[in-house]
Amino acid sequence: MKNKLSLGLSKSLYTRGLQCSKSLWLKKYKREVLAQPDEATQAVFATGDVVGGLACQLFPDGKEVPFHGTSFDEKIKLTQQWIDEGVENIYEATFQYEGVLVMVDILHKEDDGSWEIYEVKSSTWSAKKTLKSIQKYIDDAAIQYYVLNGLGLNISKAAITLLNSNYVYVDKLDIHQLFTHVNVSQEVEALQEGVISHLQLFQQCLSDPVNEPDIDIGAHCTKPYPCDAYDYCWKKQRNMPDYSVFNIFNMGVKPLKLYKQGLVNIEDIPEEALTSENQKLTVDAWLNKAHFIDKPAIQGFLDRLTYPIYHLDFETFQNAVPQFNQQRPYQQICFQYSLHIEHEDGRLEHKEFLGEEGTDPRKALIESMIKDIPDGVTVLVYNESFEKTRIKELAKDFPQYSSALNQINACIMDLAEPFQKKHYYDYRLKGKYSIKLVMPLLAPHMANGYKELSLVQHGGDAMNTFPKLEGMDEETRQEYRKALLAYCKLDTFSMVEVLKGLRGLL
Ligand code: SF4
Repeated sequence: MKNKLSLGLSKSLYTRGLQCSKSLWLKKYKREVLAQPDEATQAVFATGDVVGGLACQLFPDGKEVPFHGTSFDEKIKLTQQWIDEGVENIYEATFQYEGVLVMVDILHKEDDGSWEIYEVKSSTWSAKKTLKSIQKYIDDAAIQYYVLNGLGLNISKAAITLLNSNYVYVDKLDIHQLFTHVNVSQEVEALQEGVISHLQLFQQCLSDPVNEPDIDIGAHCTKPYPCDAYDYCWKKQRNMPDYSVFNIFNMGVKPLKLYKQGLVNIEDIPEEALTSENQKLTVDAWLNKAHFIDKPAIQGFLDRLTYPIYHLDFETFQNAVPQFNQQRPYQQICFQYSLHIEHEDGRLEHKEFLGEEGTDPRKALIESMIKDIPDGVTVLVYNESFEKTRIKELAKDFPQYSSALNQINACIMDLAEPFQKKHYYDYRLKGKYSIKLVMPLLAPHMANGYKELSLVQHGGDAMNTFPKLEGMDEETRQEYRKALLAYCKLDTFSMVEVLKGLRGLL
């Protein structure tokens, strides 16, 4: 490179810049406008730490550059010292070249003295995936290669280490089966020219700390990562309404074309832009602040239900690293269900199951569910693909119960159907049909039901709570168990009330 760079860039700033140079500029000079990582993002970071730590065991007896308590200069010095001492595996090896700082998850020395770079990610990989789907990780590896190569290290391999989605835990964790290395050496080498031109572009962008880059919003705001300047660019700078052209069409050419023409409000959408019946109905309802009720279609749906109706809802959690037999990475593990049994005379019974913390809850859940749900009854769920898929997985992983589980699956009906098919639609649904949105409209007396719950108020809370129960003291654990039961119970009670509301429309 002709001009020596002095960027003060890290690997994450480099990849941020690849997504959008304005985002890079904001991170450097106007951090206060960026959103803080939410709970879900923090959970992803925590998972990354666990997976990263485990992957180091693939290259044992290495030395880890401590993240806390050392400056970057000290990290770089320590890395160099260990290289000089002949350490073969260095975790978080830290290097700086022309103002670009990188930390290599795993740096491994081969017998011939060359080095291998392993970038560890907590995403999954299977043979069905393409390299394009992990391009963002290849870009991570490319900047590391650039730095290490620039410093004169002989890099013989760059790989992305991912979780093998086909791995199934049996009796104990086999990390060699759990992880898979995707060799991206060729791709990384091919990107080197591009790395140089990107760095020059970023240098130019960052050379002006006063004037924000003039970059418009677009598809790059969510890909490959949701940008943390979203609220700033979309809402503050462009006054984008909560419900806009971007909610009517999938992000792509059409809403961007309308946006470029200055059309962002639903009211602005020209009729000819609406191509599907669904879009027309959604827009029409919004413009007229209306709701639509297709009574014959709703009646047809209700006629297919037979009493007693078993309203069923599951709660699940997932781990990146499996811990139970027959568990795969990120497999959803059912740990709880609620069942409201609605009789024809209006009588309501309630049954429930909540697994024991620290154990695989699935077998006990299956046995309880089979006991609670008789053959041939109507099993009503909301959004059947979730429950049906979970039951199918349970049948596969516990074949001794497959016949009873398949029987339950065959009896499932979907309460979301009348809303998904727009037999009932209200403009306040804004194109969606989740039960949390439908319930306040059809059962307004329950509108505050979830807000009034303590500790667990949504599915994400439940998902995060169950794995944590084990580490809680007895009193706290009992409080959280009660909260989980109350939450799931409200889910199926909401279904009962929504069904009642649906009948009331006729
Ligand atoms: S929201 Fe979009 S335009 Fe704004 S900084 Fe992020 S990616 Fe760039």
